Amino acid sequence: DVWILRIGHRPERDQRVTTHVGLTGRALGAGGMYLASDDKGVKKSIEDVAGRWGGDFKVENNVSWKKVIRDWKEAGGKVVHLTMYGISVTDAMPEIQECEKVLVVVGAEKVPGDMYGLADYNVSVTTQPHSEISSLAIFMDHLFEGKTLDLDFEGAEIKVIPTECGKRFES
Ligand code: SAM
Repeated sequence: DVWILRIGHRPERDQRVTTHVGLTGRALGAGGMYLASDDKGVKKSIEDVAGRWGGDFKVENNVSWKKVIRDWKEAGGKVVHLTMYGISVTDAMPEIQECEKVLVVVGAEKVPGDMYGLADYNVSVTTQPHSEISSLAIFMDHLFEGKTLDLDFEGAEIKVIPTECGKRFES
């Protein structure tokens, strides 16, 4: 069970990035995303996509991030904070893959200092600054060792048929 916790989202400027954090997590096998801000628009756009493309990815809007972390740990889960200052994803992964429940935390502009101490693992995807979308995608791909690149989403209204040229859908 893998969920994402998105912290620091600013509704006036992060809507597209946060939507893509959710869609990336969903595409690569996460069960849902906790959003630690009030943005019903983001929740709606992700759930609209999930409704058409299948599966049961959920978005929980306006959560308290510290409470989510506390509850996750109480339920026996581990918390992975993605940050360029952490230990490398390749070094951290064998231990993380032992965990049954993983909460992946991604930040926006400035991550609160307490986050580093609350995480079970502070993990970097390179030590260069990039993005919450790219770091999440690479983390998920390493976690599942490529196995979630071709997931089937139950109840999908639309499905892409991979093709060499052009666009093929099944609906
Ligand atoms: N400068 C901010 C800080 O130090 O708190 C981070 C800004 S970055 C645009 C937004 C998010 O992308 C970070 O909170 C982190 O989750 C993720 N991120 C960016 N680069 C990363 C890297 N090299 N490894 C892991 N995560 C990264």
